Amino acid sequence: MNCLDYRRQLGADPRRETPEMQEHRRGCAGCAAHQARSLGFELALKRSLQVAVPDGLAERILLAQATGERGTRTRRRRRWGWLAAAAVLVAALGVGLQQLQLFAPLARQLVVHLQHEPEALLTHVPLPVAEIERPFAQRGVVLAAPLPAGISYAQPCPVGTMGSVHMVMPEPEGPVTVFFLPTHRERRGDYVDQGMHVRAVPMGTGTLALVAADTRHFDALEAGWRYSLEGTAATAAGAP
Ligand SMILES: [Zn+2]
Ligand SMILES: [Zn+2]
Repeated sequence: MNCLDYRRQLGADPRRETPEMQEHRRGCAGCAAHQARSLGFELALKRSLQVAVPDGLAERILLAQATGERGTRTRRRRRWGWLAAAAVLVAALGVGLQQLQLFAPLARQLVVHLQHEPEALLTHVPLPVAEIERPFAQRGVVLAAPLPAGISYAQPCPVGTMGSVHMVMPEPEGPVTVFFLPTHRERRGDYVDQGMHVRAVPMGTGTLALVAADTRHFDALEAGWRYSLEGTAATAAGAP
């Protein structure tokens, strides 16, 4: 039974509903509302004088109503169709972007992270040591020796799926961003990503990564950080 059948039969006798009609009405909010209106109308009609109605008028009204509703439903379905397609597209793009972030090479992830945290480069004032030690402690890192001097920014940032301590060391030629990824092992490598130089070095329990516009301080910083994190004498620059 469809809506037109239901309303045609209901129009014939609003007080009589077959089991088939009941079944349709329970599954169709439109016809349920229509039935309620019809019953109300029937009662009102009973109380009023009988008015002559042109032959076939009820049928024509029902047909117009039903086809009108079908049109509306089709349009609505089409709109939902577009919305669903858009939602799928957005979800796919979201997953795509996420994958780009989460599974991109480390250098790309670090450079993207920097771009989303420009405030990290705003200050050149060295932080109190306690404020730098705090994110290391939060990441469960025990320092082997005092930290290098002059760190102006230190936050326990997530980078993709990895935990990091994100720091900035302002140098006269420009800031060097330092990431320590305590639980991520990355092979040693030098990279250039979007114009930024990136060096990754296995260190301590994880990986130290340096990011800067040029590499001039990388060797010295690598040696200094190895001392802080491993407590051993600085290894020769460029050694694996
Ligand atoms: Zn219906
Ligand atoms: Zn950060």
